Amino acid sequence: MKVTDIKTYVVEAVRRNWIFIEVETDAGITGLGEATLEMFDKAILGAIEDYKRLVVGTDPRATEWQYDYLTRNKFWRGDTISSTVLSALDMAFWDIKGKEFGVPVYKLLGGPTRKTVPAYGNYWFLGKTREDYARSVGQYAEKAAQAVERGWGALKWSPFGSAAYDVTSEQEHIIVECVKQVREAVGDNVHLLLDAHGRFNLPTATRIARRLEEYRPFFFEEPIPPENIDSMAELRHSTTVPIATGERLIGRQGFRELLAKFAADFIQPDVVHCGGISEMRKIAALAETYYIPLIPHNPCGPVGTAAAIHVGASIPNFTLLEYIQIPERDEVVVEPLELINGEFTLPTKPGLGIELNKKVLSKYPYKDREWDHYSPVRDLVL
Ligand SMILES: [Mg+2]
Repeated sequence: MKVTDIKTYVVEAVRRNWIFIEVETDAGITGLGEATLEMFDKAILGAIEDYKRLVVGTDPRATEWQYDYLTRNKFWRGDTISSTVLSALDMAFWDIKGKEFGVPVYKLLGGPTRKTVPAYGNYWFLGKTREDYARSVGQYAEKAAQAVERGWGALKWSPFGSAAYDVTSEQEHIIVECVKQVREAVGDNVHLLLDAHGRFNLPTATRIARRLEEYRPFFFEEPIPPENIDSMAELRHSTTVPIATGERLIGRQGFRELLAKFAADFIQPDVVHCGGISEMRKIAALAETYYIPLIPHNPCGPVGTAAAIHVGASIPNFTLLEYIQIPERDEVVVEPLELINGEFTLPTKPGLGIELNKKVLSKYPYKDREWDHYSPVRDLVL
């Protein structure tokens, strides 16, 4: 079997543009992958063309050979753009392989290791309209209680508003109050996950983590920028709040130092960026030797989510998968992934088990998106 072409589909999806690829083969089998990378849509589309030149004519089923050929042999590697395209290709290759053998990908990977793939909700605080976006501590508490009623057992958000580097004492008070009120609204049994998007300096992150300990966050994600592993380890050893990081890391090499220095309680590889299904499996195996679980990062669309579900269903050290529900784009796939009470049902169809509804894709053309994480527009008030 040989790759004959790669088609690309861009779908505007409210907060970002989803980029999907479809790998075509001379056997008539096609495979889907996702290469969504927020602010780099145009660079990704260009990089897909570069990789297309390299993979047309090769066997898509040789996933181990493909990754090695496209990284070692082709020399330039390790950046987020190339790794996102490699990830999409790897997913599509596994989709093709699953369809050829007539089984879901997780079965080819040695699964199932669990009956469902539990997820945590993100963007549960967004309403149907922009005006409905939670802006105050009270609104977060109210929307968190509603999300739990909808079945979520774990919720992530960023209670930090526009605070970055340092915080004023007023900002610090609002942060602590937000976590306190959400905890009171959801009770003791819901996991609260906090994402700082790498915004604080070390002393500020340490002080905030210690102040939040009494509300038992499930994790504190990227409290400081993720690059300095020693700083992250220092933070982790200074608080009882578990630390999560790794969504921006690439490949097994990217996770090696993080694991070896015990700088995180949970690692968060993203199947759309870390190198795809094949590489995420290797990262999981490496993490397993340190007894560290995966909570994969996943703000992407249905194809990336499906790929992450197959990995989660086939490894022993999986905890939760991130998920953002966008009901306005449910029609983009023929059959949406099944999520019941915050847990994904294992897919049953061959391959990734997801199919694009190509008739509707042109209804959602590319749109420029703002992309900031702690600008003043995100101010949080009491
Ligand atoms: Mg994050």
